[in-house]
Amino acid sequence: MKAAVFMGRGVIETTTLDDLEVQDHEIKVRNMAVGVCGTDIHIFHGEKGSADVKPPVVLGHEYAGEVVAVGRAVTGFQVGDRVAVDPNIYCGTCYYCRNGRKHLCENLTAIGVNRNGGFAEYSVIPEQQAFRLGDTVDFEAGAMAEPLACCLHGIDLAQIRPGDTVCVIGGGAIGQLMVQLAKLAGASRVFLSEPVAQRRQIALENGADYAVDPFQEDVAQAVRKINGRGVDVVIECAGNQKATAQAFAVAGKGAAIVLFSVPKPDAEFPVKLFDVFRKELRIMGSFINPDTHQRAVNLINAGKVNISPLITHRYGLDQVEEAIRKQSDPDSIKVLVKP
Ligand SMILES: [Zn+2]
Ligand SMILES: [Zn+2]
Repeated sequence: MKAAVFMGRGVIETTTLDDLEVQDHEIKVRNMAVGVCGTDIHIFHGEKGSADVKPPVVLGHEYAGEVVAVGRAVTGFQVGDRVAVDPNIYCGTCYYCRNGRKHLCENLTAIGVNRNGGFAEYSVIPEQQAFRLGDTVDFEAGAMAEPLACCLHGIDLAQIRPGDTVCVIGGGAIGQLMVQLAKLAGASRVFLSEPVAQRRQIALENGADYAVDPFQEDVAQAVRKINGRGVDVVIECAGNQKATAQAFAVAGKGAAIVLFSVPKPDAEFPVKLFDVFRKELRIMGSFINPDTHQRAVNLINAGKVNISPLITHRYGLDQVEEAIRKQSDPDSIKVLVKP
């Protein structure tokens, strides 16, 4: 089969790999649509992913496809089923796995990170990593189940209550999904801070009530003009110092601040500790998608999240490197590879 193999920092080679055998509890998937993730960009540039990466490996962990073969012991899937893949595999025996926090697993492995994933014609995965998509759901929407599941974990941590006010910093694919989920969670007002006009427009058409250009306006002032005070929940999805500063500036008393973006491993940020005390801020990180994949698929199957406007570019298997570079461009939101 044809595959785009990550060979090490900055190198992806399109090549032919041996056909895959299917073990008893595995299914073989024809990979149909694969999202390029910020994590792929980090790995491509030699940085860490969610798990350590040892090339050669086929990247691509946000994907959906069609089941083309099932192992002898598989009961939950048949050939022809459409599935979305949860890439994260937990050991089940470490302290965190046995303490209700499996995503913090000491031995986390992930399809498309440290075992072969989506940037190939086919993949073979354990049955329990697959989630059935509706018969009419398109694979492009299915490919977004994984980032949506990660966003759901962030939304859960933020504990948005109906009526809360929410500000999302950054209108890339994650920020766009956060805007829609915040609205679904019952937020009364959703603000977005995003410098690219097209992204602001798309967010406004899909649930954002106000979109602010942080290069033109002071976001905290703009929000306070409308809202009177800071917001109840801030979700930072941009991944730079200015965005983090905005997140703190826009947070009202009692706010939850979810620092969702993947920072550089050595990134630091000074926090005014008195504000944390006096405003009783809850500052939190959010890591991957523990037990949220099924809900993400439920939302996609029910058509509750509008995915199609977020997909801006599509590439073939020969162009994975280009796809990864395009995902960093401000004119893209979500880039897909269609193997
Ligand atoms: Zn991802
Ligand atoms: Zn574990």
